[in-house]
Amino acid sequence: MSDHSLQTSAQPIAAPEPLEQALALQSRMPLVRIGEALLALGFVDERQLGDALARQTQERHLPLGELLVMSQAISRQQLEQALVHKMGFPVVDAGRFPVEADAIREVPVAQAQRLCALPLMVRGHRLIVALEDPSARMVIDELEHCTALKVVPVLALTGTLRPAIVQTYVGTGTTTTPAQPTAQPAADDGLDQPASVIASRLIERIIADTRSGAVTHVHVESDGTDLPLTVRARRGGVLVPYARLPAACRDPLVEQLKAMAQLDRGERTQPQVGLIEPADGDEHPPLQVTTIPTVGGQEDVVVRRRTRPRLRALTDLGLTALNLAAYTAAIEHASGLVLCVGPEASGRTTTMHAALAHLNTPERKIWTAEQSVEIIQRGVRQMQVRGSGEPSALSALRAIAQADADVVMVDELDDRRAARLVVDLAASGVLVLAAMTGSSACGAVSRLMSMGIDGDSLADALRGVLDQRMVRRLCPHCMRWSPADGGQLESLRVAWCADSRATGSPAPAQRDHDPLAHWLIEYGRNGVIGIPAAVGCPHCDGTGYRGHIGVHEWTEVDRQVLKRLQTTTQIDLPRLQGPATERLSLCQDAIEKVLTGMTTVAEVNAICNI
Ligand SMILES: [Zn+2]
Repeated sequence: MSDHSLQTSAQPIAAPEPLEQALALQSRMPLVRIGEALLALGFVDERQLGDALARQTQERHLPLGELLVMSQAISRQQLEQALVHKMGFPVVDAGRFPVEADAIREVPVAQAQRLCALPLMVRGHRLIVALEDPSARMVIDELEHCTALKVVPVLALTGTLRPAIVQTYVGTGTTTTPAQPTAQPAADDGLDQPASVIASRLIERIIADTRSGAVTHVHVESDGTDLPLTVRARRGGVLVPYARLPAACRDPLVEQLKAMAQLDRGERTQPQVGLIEPADGDEHPPLQVTTIPTVGGQEDVVVRRRTRPRLRALTDLGLTALNLAAYTAAIEHASGLVLCVGPEASGRTTTMHAALAHLNTPERKIWTAEQSVEIIQRGVRQMQVRGSGEPSALSALRAIAQADADVVMVDELDDRRAARLVVDLAASGVLVLAAMTGSSACGAVSRLMSMGIDGDSLADALRGVLDQRMVRRLCPHCMRWSPADGGQLESLRVAWCADSRATGSPAPAQRDHDPLAHWLIEYGRNGVIGIPAAVGCPHCDGTGYRGHIGVHEWTEVDRQVLKRLQTTTQIDLPRLQGPATERLSLCQDAIEKVLTGMTTVAEVNAICNI
């Protein structure tokens, strides 16, 4: 931070313009947590901070800084110094600041007094509020919940806040009655304005937040004519409260969203899907609006950004070195079928596009038949199949078979005749990458056989199967290691060994007969095996996770075994994959991803039991 910005943020501000400048400065500063700030200034030591964090798990309503002041670990001046100098919060002289009437209308007096919060001004969908502790997340959350605005907190100059709240509200004539603490904000807070205005403002905020990626989905949920309208949003994979509006706002909100997404406003009994397209010249992606009729003649609305999956490199998928080498070798063959299996949303398309990017050279002709083209690659000829007015996967593949292909990609192989065609292509000099919905290599082979493809043809075509799942990746800024306890290690060991036995490895390495000793050598620190946990910080919206990572199992199929297969009942994994090679099961790969700090046991438990 430069001397200039220190100066600016430390001067009490008493006018809107300098405050906006100070906030702009703060937004460019690196994010620092209050604990880190106090440590850096030497106001607390690790032990005091640890104690306060532990206490905070019991007293969640108290911000960390406040807890430290109450326990007299630091003084209020020290807390303020950390907030200003390390976290960059502007200091506002609440007594002299010309509070704007628009802002006052957003927060009823009782709530302002209970939370000790003075709304200063509204800019776009942001409400700037002076607080005694601008790091108090609970206060900010409640205000955002009630106003449907993004709350930007600033620090009130010591001693100016409480008198200013009384002065301001009395001065504007908003109330003369003494404040009564209310347990919950009333549902009709903010009905000083027409419902349609509140609704359009919430829509502005929804659009801004989904576009910026602050939230991925917004759910508007109606419970009945007289009940408040609840709005929840998904932040970093978790649904959190987003806004609560008076019942009167429901119809205008739903109507406006439908109109913006070009949906039929009169239709309230059928689900509808539409897009809010950005204006010409606006680079933002469109937003998808889905309306779903629910019981009692209500309609729910879900808004989400139509994000296109990013094109990734093969090395960026989370494949282990062994899996990466094996998968790359398989796709570098001039012909053959390489399958990618997994449930919906397991990242199969991302993996296959990474493979195509690896193969995409001027000497190769690459065709794709995709149900939904979400990643576009220059040099790859892509066909959208299945939509109305588009060819089916089968007719697309028939055309491709006549079109001099070197490489063909199919993003969902679920049709008997298409599967037959793909296997024939793969056996006749074309490399085919195909995805199937399923949960194992055996399942995929069995499915292909039940589609009428015999073991002999499969043996000629199939090179291998990549079984894949997706888990959330731990946020590197806030993830925390703690020593694994005996119970955790035992359940990891049991899961690991169960899979080692299932794969029937004839000469188990140390990794397989004594995984604990192996992990201690590979991942131990000071003789201890650590387990990572999600914590939450501003970098990850408080969820503890950022992005996703794949979990894989690569199975190279033994052609001799496949050739002899007559019925699907003869399929079992150890025989299918032939002589044991050094390989990891899906679950073992997941365990390694926990031990190396990429994801958590909770994430892994969602895809396999450990
Ligand atoms: Zn984080």
